[in-house]
Amino acid sequence: MPRVTRRVELIRYTEKPEEAVALAAKLCYSDADLSSLMEELSKKDTAAFIKKLIDMGHLSPIEHASFSFAIEGVSRALLAQITRHRIASFSVKSQRYVRARGGFNYIIPPAIEALGEGAVREFEAQMDTIYSFYEGWLGRLEEGEKGNEDARFVLPNAAESKMIVTMNARELLHFFFLRCCNRAQWEIRAVAWDMLKLAAGVAPALFCTAGPSCVRGKCSEGKMSCGKMDEVKKRHSELTSIYRE
Ligand SMILES: Cc1cc2nc3c(=O)[nH]c(=O)nc-3n(C[C@H](O)[C@H](O)[C@H](O)COP(=O)(O)OP(=O)(O)OC[C@H]3O[C@@H](n4cnc5c(N)ncnc54)[C@H](O)[C@@H]3O)c2cc1C
Repeated sequence: MPRVTRRVELIRYTEKPEEAVALAAKLCYSDADLSSLMEELSKKDTAAFIKKLIDMGHLSPIEHASFSFAIEGVSRALLAQITRHRIASFSVKSQRYVRARGGFNYIIPPAIEALGEGAVREFEAQMDTIYSFYEGWLGRLEEGEKGNEDARFVLPNAAESKMIVTMNARELLHFFFLRCCNRAQWEIRAVAWDMLKLAAGVAPALFCTAGPSCVRGKCSEGKMSCGKMDEVKKRHSELTSIYRE
């Protein structure tokens, strides 16, 4: 049974996302018709306008840009967390319709890998044992989705999940605020940083200041702070500096 590694791709996004946001915002403050607003947009400094919107908390225009990510090589534990984000849309590989054949893919936590080869082998053997439980139930249950949907009850949180996730830019800013923070669990944090890098690559004005509170100033976590703000800021600045104008 193969262990798998994380892959996050930005597969689709609103065409000219920053222009779409700036147009929506501009329309709120102008009595010009659409043609002149659109004409004006190409001349105006969209990036500065978006910064102003974010600074003053006028965030509804930001909902007009959306971003779809394909994610694989992540665990069911990740799935349970990411799907708590209610403003996002999800399509997830089904364990009812797709039977694990000959084994199931799984994720090994880095902290277990760091314990060495022996620990990794032990983890892998545990996954093999779980697969034998799964296969055992499949053999005793009805063929097809009815059997799959019950046999999967013995599969672990480590089992791989694949999904397509779509979020609008406002929800993404919120997601990056919560999940790029060191207080977030390692796997969803890794996915969030991957998504931030991809989103900032295509919409730098929207996302180059996104992330946990410490990248813009003080940590908002109080006593729960990780105390590693400088480290987080450095990582963030290295990631976004290539996209900043
Ligand atoms: C470090 C960390 C630890 C966590 N630990 C736990 C835990 O132990 N147990 C647990 O159950 N969860 C836990 N969570 C999940 C957390 O409680 C949220 O469910 C998750 O982060 C989604 O956040 P959200 O509701 O703000 O975001 P979204 O669902 O993405 O919503 C975005 C925003 O929309 C608004 N919104 C959405 N739906 C409503 C609504 N129905 N009513 C009013 N406003 C709404 C809110 O302003 C919300 O912030 C944890 C999250 C983090 C980051």
